[in-house]
Amino acid sequence: MPSPAPTRRTVLGHLAAAPLALSVPVSLPLSLPVPRARSAGLPSPAGAASVAPVLNDAGRMSPTRVARHVLVPSEPGEARVARLRAELKAAAAEGRPVAVGVARHSMGGQSLVPEGVALTLEGGGVEIDTAARRYRAAAGTRWRQVIPALDAAGLSPAVMQSNNDFGIGSTFCVNAHGWAVPCGPFGTTVRHLRLLLADGTLVACSPTEEPELFAHAMGGYGLFGLVVDLELDAVPNRALAPDLARLPADGFADAFLRTVRTPEVAMAYGRLSVSRSRFLEEAVLVAFRARTGPVPPPEAASLPWLQRLIYRGQTGSEAGKRLRWLAETQVAPHLAPGRVARNALLNVSAAVLANRDPARVDILHEYFLPPEGLAAFLAACRTILPAAGGELLNVTLRHVEADPIACLAYAPQARIAAVMSFSHDRTPEADAAMGAMTRRLIEAAIGLGGSFYLPYRTQAHPDQVRRAYPRADAFAALKRRYDPDLRFRNGLWDAYFAQA
Ligand SMILES: Cc1cc2nc3c(=O)[nH]c(=O)nc-3n(C[C@H](O)[C@H](O)[C@H](O)COP(=O)(O)OP(=O)(O)OC[C@H]3O[C@@H](n4cnc5c(N)ncnc54)[C@H](O)[C@@H]3O)c2cc1C
Repeated sequence: MPSPAPTRRTVLGHLAAAPLALSVPVSLPLSLPVPRARSAGLPSPAGAASVAPVLNDAGRMSPTRVARHVLVPSEPGEARVARLRAELKAAAAEGRPVAVGVARHSMGGQSLVPEGVALTLEGGGVEIDTAARRYRAAAGTRWRQVIPALDAAGLSPAVMQSNNDFGIGSTFCVNAHGWAVPCGPFGTTVRHLRLLLADGTLVACSPTEEPELFAHAMGGYGLFGLVVDLELDAVPNRALAPDLARLPADGFADAFLRTVRTPEVAMAYGRLSVSRSRFLEEAVLVAFRARTGPVPPPEAASLPWLQRLIYRGQTGSEAGKRLRWLAETQVAPHLAPGRVARNALLNVSAAVLANRDPARVDILHEYFLPPEGLAAFLAACRTILPAAGGELLNVTLRHVEADPIACLAYAPQARIAAVMSFSHDRTPEADAAMGAMTRRLIEAAIGLGGSFYLPYRTQAHPDQVRRAYPRADAFAALKRRYDPDLRFRNGLWDAYFAQA
């Protein structure tokens, strides 16, 4: 992607967009340095690694000794399928479980299994059908590879997370959502995919072809099969211009719903103050509206060091939190006239705000609330968080349209998502306190008809998973039918479903 020197106008545009980047608390080195076997030849993947490596995921709270870690390169078409099949066959011969990963930004061992085979998928090229606004890519392809390819064709991903680090297959497996509006989760933009089942059968899936498998693989954390490649919707890349409005947090849901249903609004999010003096009481609503005329280049965000300084400066500092809120609400609006490309807003790495302090942990939480329940949830948070001593660095609010497909749907109806980022000491005591607080927050969300997101720490009580995801037991039962030997296993299965 070309990256010309930023002009004053583009710097202003990115500063206006900076609250977005500030919103996405980020991780973290993803795995310990380990010996990795590159899956280079068939048919002997098992012999490739001699030392049992220890892998980790974002947050570095899930160190897991695996039997071997295999990097699976992206190869054209059927060679990729043959290689993946050989890895599955070798694991079966050894009686080992398999867990697949791409960026391993999940935070609770969702991409890892003890004493198993960890497959890390690499990305490949992107085939674009510009007229149909569709593209196809291997599951290990990352958003930072997809966006430049689409950009050259005047297109942009329809739905993705707020960072470009993740794999597209994993995005389907967690059924991620983004901040483009009005949109359902990522799975609703998947037209077709190929899934390799535990017995080596390759199945073509879509909402209409093998719909049962599609619905269980979507947000199914790789437990039904290995996603090989996907065909996805794209949308035109656009020039967008931001505007910001301040409002009381209790009035946010109504204003947000009106905003996301305004036709020219293409992307939108909210943010809440986290300083003690206005804890979760003030909100800012940022909407990016489509503009006619040329689309600016997809430059990377300007002044990442400033975004980072302001964001990380909040840790343990009331003054830092106030300064950050001032930057969001008072400074950014005056810098708002910039136009920015949709692709530039999406092409942001999580590394910009990453925690680099080995003594601390950044942990994400996410709760999905019926819009009419948001104010009550925030009221509950105002009680629960200070009592638990949680160091809250950020709350971003997003809108997710209803997901009628996924078995484990976190948004069976339209929801407002509250994405929270906490920082805590890297100690067992702090982790236990975070777990207790997490269960209280989940209880508050469930009590209001909401749910919580599954790619983060697995600190929920299994009963809470069943109440938030009423089809959880049916999900586990069907998984056992498709995969009776539990070839595909990971930390999410072990924590929440293994006993079902
Ligand atoms: C900083 C940060 C920002 C985030 N922002 C957002 C956001 O804006 N919106 C949102 O919805 N989520 C967000 N998340 C959560 C994120 O979407 C998930 O953690 C996602 O899993 C990350 O992708 P990954 O490539 O790291 O997946 P991994 O952690 O590598 O894998 C995730 C899951 O998918 C499975 N899997 C991966 N690839 C395959 C495959 N090919 N076949 C079968 N199974 C597979 C894995 O086994 C695992 O269960 C964020 C997380 C972080 C850390």
